[in-house]
Amino acid sequence: AKNAGRNTIRFYDPKMQSELEARLILVADLGQALDRQQLLLYFQKQVNAQGHCLGAEVLLRWAHPERGLVSPAQFIPLAEETGAIIPIGLWVIQTACRQLKTWQAHPGLRELTLAVNVSAKQFHQPDFVDQVRRVLLQTAAKPAQLKLELTESVVLEQAEDTIAKMRELKLLGISFSMDDFGTGYSSLQYLKRLPLDQLKIDQGFVRDITTDPNDAAIVQTIIAMTEALGLNVIAEGVETREQQDFLEQRGCHTFQGYFFGRPMPVAQFEADVGK
Ligand code: C2E
Ligand code: CA
Ligand code: CA
Ligand code: CA
Repeated sequence: AKNAGRNTIRFYDPKMQSELEARLILVADLGQALDRQQLLLYFQKQVNAQGHCLGAEVLLRWAHPERGLVSPAQFIPLAEETGAIIPIGLWVIQTACRQLKTWQAHPGLRELTLAVNVSAKQFHQPDFVDQVRRVLLQTAAKPAQLKLELTESVVLEQAEDTIAKMRELKLLGISFSMDDFGTGYSSLQYLKRLPLDQLKIDQGFVRDITTDPNDAAIVQTIIAMTEALGLNVIAEGVETREQQDFLEQRGCHTFQGYFFGRPMPVAQFEADVGK
């Protein structure tokens, strides 16, 4: 133990020290990732019951020079803590909108929608709506082809701000999907008030849907709820034909998951879908 001050004795733990150092390095690297053009977008198909591609979810990747492709699960929470998510999140929307614009010239791609994940911190920035409006103007993407995925944490943080902003963005023509639905705490009261277009059934419920009666019951309830509220429903994490069939029999006709395609770089996505 080292004496770190008059009243505190700090124990020196080399493992903790190196974890902290690793984290600090990652934070510093993340701050520069955007400028160094290390961020890229992957696209994962969203399909209908016939397997026809309706669009894609845009998933962020970080090509770190030493670590290789870093998963967003590792750096998004960090980016939220440091605030780096704000410029990064804007870049994601810009890049997605530019992609939509580019696809307008390609018959096989021009109808696709792109679903973009928006973190709570980003959404609650005072100028979020203005920024999105500006991006749409600058890129000339069609707002009807842009879908924003919000999580229940966005609503939970500031319900009134969320509803007001969603309304404004809806007026522009953008649509909304509630991501990871069923994993948070959002009440039906909120759900009724939010101008949503879609609920996304979390992959945690889909995984064992054919074997776990509880998951099956939850999914059935979510689907019934979307019908009652007049919302679309999509299931994520669909990995097997059996899961698709099960969902379809219960009224969910839009899917995303490895069974239909992994998240992939844009060129691969275009080759896959545009053919
Ligand atoms: P998410 O929004 O729930 O995205 C779905 C995750 O499930 C993705 O992980 C995707 O690759 C993965 N996935 C897709 N199909 C399957 C499947 O069939 N089976 C399984 N086991 N997994 C599947 P990914 O790409 O690692 O992203 C992780 C999370 O990072 C996302 O979860 C999202 O919360 C966040 N994220 C990704 N991109 C962005 C972004 O641009 N902005 C923000 N704020 N968050 C992002
Ligand atoms: Ca998502
Ligand atoms: Ca999700
Ligand atoms: Ca998830």
